[in-house]
Amino acid sequence: MSRSAGGNQFDGLPPLREVANAHGLLAKKSLGQNFLFDLNLTRRIARAAAPLTDALIVEIGPGPGGLTRALLAEGAQKIIAVERDARCLPALAEIADHYPGRLEVIEGDALDVDLGRLVGEARPARVCANLPYNIATALLVRWLETEPWPPWFDRLILMFQREVAERIIASPAERAAYGRLAVLCNWRCTTRLLFDVAPSAFTPPPKVTSAVVELVPRVSPMTCQARLLSEVTQAAFGQRRKMLRQSLKTIKDCDAGTLLARAEIDPALRAEAIGIEGFAALSRALEDMRADQEPAMP
Ligand code: SAM
Repeated sequence: MSRSAGGNQFDGLPPLREVANAHGLLAKKSLGQNFLFDLNLTRRIARAAAPLTDALIVEIGPGPGGLTRALLAEGAQKIIAVERDARCLPALAEIADHYPGRLEVIEGDALDVDLGRLVGEARPARVCANLPYNIATALLVRWLETEPWPPWFDRLILMFQREVAERIIASPAERAAYGRLAVLCNWRCTTRLLFDVAPSAFTPPPKVTSAVVELVPRVSPMTCQARLLSEVTQAAFGQRRKMLRQSLKTIKDCDAGTLLARAEIDPALRAEAIGIEGFAALSRALEDMRADQEPAMP
């Protein structure tokens, strides 16, 4: 393969488009494949995860390796990458050969891999990924529900569709975007939108703009159980136009009025008027009510 065109000068590997062609890597929609072939852009994303030398980097969906190469060129000492598409493995093996001992590729579904276990004691670990859009939110929610907290990662640098990025960083003031995802994300992390990426940067171009988001775990998030916060927000935002005294009726074995009174929240409010503190209070109240319902020990 030629080593002349396409911004390949920084690592001596062939241009990504050539790599993809050589390995027959036509993007598959079913795997959420929108590849980045511009190494200047992938280096920008990699730099958002800096400093790279102090952390183990976890990448989900390296594909032909555009972001992987950028992370390595920017100094990542070690990357663990999880890729589901076996067609990408030969291209990734070439990168691993070029950077001996610095890239470990695991073939598998990221939803099935216990990343915390994989990372083990090698802390801190940092996730940097252009996520497959079809499982992006599911992966994020899973990472946010990690126990114990603080988690195995010290930062998440992730590419999402712009609309999802807006839902991640939203505050109650941004009514349309504020919902369950914003509550879960901002309960346990500080969140920040770093920059937009135009559809034209991808092959094939998606219909919508994307954005890179940073999530940094809070050391001491408000006390409440992730599972119960999830349950309460699901009920509240599941019927977001209704008052809480109505929407919270869908919570199992729980009187909505009592729950709201215990959490000291006005039952006439709607979900979008409640901040994270309020949802944490509702989750703690639900925990208390469930504990009260448990049969006493003989
Ligand atoms: N990182 C590459 C880039 O930026 O060009 C590819 C990003 S592409 C948006 C998403 C990648 O995730 C693809 O390589 C796809 O095969 C992979 N993928 C899709 N579903 C996956 C899953 N469940 N587990 C791991 N990887 C997955």
